[in-house]
Amino acid sequence: MSVLRMVILGRQGSGKGTQSLRLAEAYGCVHLSTGDVLRAAVAEGTQLGRQAEAIMTSGGLVGDDIMIPLVQERIGKDDIVANGVLLDGFPRTADQANGLESMLDARGQRLTVAINLDVAVEEVTQRMMARGREDDSEDAITRRLDLYEAETAPLLDWFAERGLLATVDGLGEESDVFDRLKAVIDQRNA
Ligand code: AMP
Repeated sequence: MSVLRMVILGRQGSGKGTQSLRLAEAYGCVHLSTGDVLRAAVAEGTQLGRQAEAIMTSGGLVGDDIMIPLVQERIGKDDIVANGVLLDGFPRTADQANGLESMLDARGQRLTVAINLDVAVEEVTQRMMARGREDDSEDAITRRLDLYEAETAPLLDWFAERGLLATVDGLGEESDVFDRLKAVIDQRNA
């Protein structure tokens, strides 16, 4: 089995975060959630946190000029080089996708797969209203979903053009979705 470098895409509320944690553990790779990195920076009150906080609360996107170098630095660290990575929440824009491609190219690396964890807008809206996270105001939820359609959904084509896209149905029991995700990864990594 080679070192896995994967991206998981999905609307907020698709179960992406939960499934990512389980997948990273199952495959022994690093779970790199840019949302988690930003939330930790906000909690610590670092410069990054101060730059990101208001944007996150409003449901907007932190700038590519901040996000791309942040991921670039992180994926060069020993643990990711040795064990691979599951990117969760990045890329979210075309510039971030191009940035990811460049940074992997520069290291002579390629993505194994980009997984689209597919759950319809109506379903994720209900799930997010129910979970009540602090940055989940109704306006912020709507804004994040709109931005997903405008900025991130087009990346599905971008990955498909490169032969990297696999779509997995995100409806159903958590363990069933997990099994579907594993099947896709194992197939790509055979
Ligand atoms: P998430 O946990 O992935 O839903 O991210 C929470 C929030 O962090 C998002 O609503 C954005 O404000 C910000 N964020 C996380 N990842 C990115 C990214 N790749 N680009 C821009 N903003 C991001």
